[in-house]
Amino acid sequence: MRRSKTYSLFAILLLFSVLTSCSTYISTPTPTQTNLPPTETPAATFTPEPTATATLPPAPPRAQYTMNVVLDYNAKSVSVDETVVYPNHTGQPLNDLVLAVEPNFWPNCFTLNALSLNGSAVANYSLDGQKLSFALPAVLQPEATVTLQIRYTLNLPLIEPTNPNLSRPRIFGYSLKQVNLTNWYPFIVPNVAGEWVLHNPWYYGEHLVYDAADYVVNVKSADPAVTPVIASSGAPAQNGEWTTYTLTAGRAFALSASTEFLTSSAQVGNVAVTSYYFQFFEGGGKAAMNAAAQALQIFNQKYGPYPHQTLAVVMGDFNDGMEFSGFFYLSKDFYNLYDGTPKNYLIFVAAHETAHQWWFEQVANDQAAQPWLDEALATYSEHVFYEGTDPSLVSWWWAYRIDYYRPQGWVDIAVYDGGGFRPYTNAVYFRGAHFLDDLRARIGDEAFFAFLKDYLAQENGKIATSADFFRILRAHTQTDFSDLVREYFQNAY
Ligand SMILES: [Zn+2]
Repeated sequence: MRRSKTYSLFAILLLFSVLTSCSTYISTPTPTQTNLPPTETPAATFTPEPTATATLPPAPPRAQYTMNVVLDYNAKSVSVDETVVYPNHTGQPLNDLVLAVEPNFWPNCFTLNALSLNGSAVANYSLDGQKLSFALPAVLQPEATVTLQIRYTLNLPLIEPTNPNLSRPRIFGYSLKQVNLTNWYPFIVPNVAGEWVLHNPWYYGEHLVYDAADYVVNVKSADPAVTPVIASSGAPAQNGEWTTYTLTAGRAFALSASTEFLTSSAQVGNVAVTSYYFQFFEGGGKAAMNAAAQALQIFNQKYGPYPHQTLAVVMGDFNDGMEFSGFFYLSKDFYNLYDGTPKNYLIFVAAHETAHQWWFEQVANDQAAQPWLDEALATYSEHVFYEGTDPSLVSWWWAYRIDYYRPQGWVDIAVYDGGGFRPYTNAVYFRGAHFLDDLRARIGDEAFFAFLKDYLAQENGKIATSADFFRILRAHTQTDFSDLVREYFQNAY
């Protein structure tokens, strides 16, 4: 019942994307040497050996994505040469591959120029909306590896305003002063128990699920005279005319470019926190950086270490916050409303998005089916942030951030069952925060934070489920909390 409603609501969007899919044909691959960055690859990169050798190299621990990206900032287009070394760690033989291609939701955006597997062109593939799939010529056995090459161009869409009551703002594309590459490259979706996990999008919330992967992203400007400042998920290194960004064990590599970005940086241990903002927003830009740096220190202590070398805090030229690997956006509205105090959205959403670097980035979850796993923890982490910076603001935070909305609903709903943006966030984020606070009061601080550390340690690099959460939690307490589960959750755990 519920699902058929879901699908009917989606019919127009899906039909639209099928009809406007612009990339059914591939052209003959023609390597363009001038487009390639210097061939020396960072030492950490897995380099596949020719398959003729008798002893195959061991499969890398994660998929390895190498992207050579030529950004034409003025034309709002990018051309990408992407190589994916994919190890089959699913434990099952695979007969096909499924990739998510989110840019294909936009008309005339994604053009596939070449697709090859282990050096041979893939003739029969299907590109339907966000799903690119094809049969493998031979079964991919567990722990065996294939190499995929994809060459494509993106003609970026204009980021158009959306009705905030109906759907989240769009991020991918360009505005007058920003180019945002988010969910912009084809990636192999997780395979869980023999099933490829690629959910339909929804008006709010996220629908993608990510395996952890390693990234080397080489970027250069199509016009050397146009050199935007680039915020990205990876640590940058200059490599001739290219800049190479590397990210290890990341979920989603994002880039934001602007010729108008101003930056401020702070160092937290080995981590460089850089804030990217537009002119006239220096106060908010620095405050967001400081809040992220403070949050990083607090969560390092409470949960476990931040895994990357950099964290980019990026002012979005749209009205939303959103997390990616080592990178998050904050809504321009938050900067507009920033009043110089810690009592506002800019500060607690900066803490929230920083917390996603633990709950989303290190411990991932199915964002469509079980969004509470990252969102409730990220929201409650705002509470943990104020406890660590100014405990007198915790009661203000409850009143202003959470209880003003009189939250109701089951914490463990799927994104499709939210019934609107506000009821959805009320249930998943806000009731989720109340559940975690009640749980903490019940089992005590020591058990609560020992559990979170253990949950991070055990599920790091994996896609955790609600069952994993409660299994690990129960190992840390003898106290009965079954009434809290009944009060907040529609399912039994
Ligand atoms: Zn969130």
